[in-house]
Amino acid sequence: MNNFRYRMAQLFAGRTGVDALGRTFTWVAMILMIVTMFTHSNIAYLLAMACLVYSIWRMFSKNYQKRYYENQMFLQKTAKIRGFFMRLTPNVRNSIIKARYNMEQRRTYKIFKCPSCKQKLRAPRGRGKIQVNCSRCHTQFIKKV
Ligand SMILES: [Zn+2]
Repeated sequence: MNNFRYRMAQLFAGRTGVDALGRTFTWVAMILMIVTMFTHSNIAYLLAMACLVYSIWRMFSKNYQKRYYENQMFLQKTAKIRGFFMRLTPNVRNSIIKARYNMEQRRTYKIFKCPSCKQKLRAPRGRGKIQVNCSRCHTQFIKKV
């Protein structure tokens, strides 16, 4: 394994390797491959191959200064788009965490509303009929949990 790693390092010495631009092209190629699978479009297939070849060619390109400059240009031009996705990602992650938390809550707690003030209340499940004292309006009622 170390030998393999050493050979890989040798292979990439003085070459561009994987950068943001190359990675993007790899992703675009993958997406286009999936598109090809569903649509059987020749254009999508050719574009996928072109993107793949380009990203591989970038990786092995010895003119890394030029590749570095291209990558910088790419990063600059896509700064706004990337910023948008960066802001989007934590929101998506948060809502997944929230949904998971809610599911967990629903499994261990019975969630219901107070009949008089509609305040959301919860009680641990499996206790049978319990007397609930609403935390907001102090109405007492019987609830099966
Ligand atoms: Zn209430």
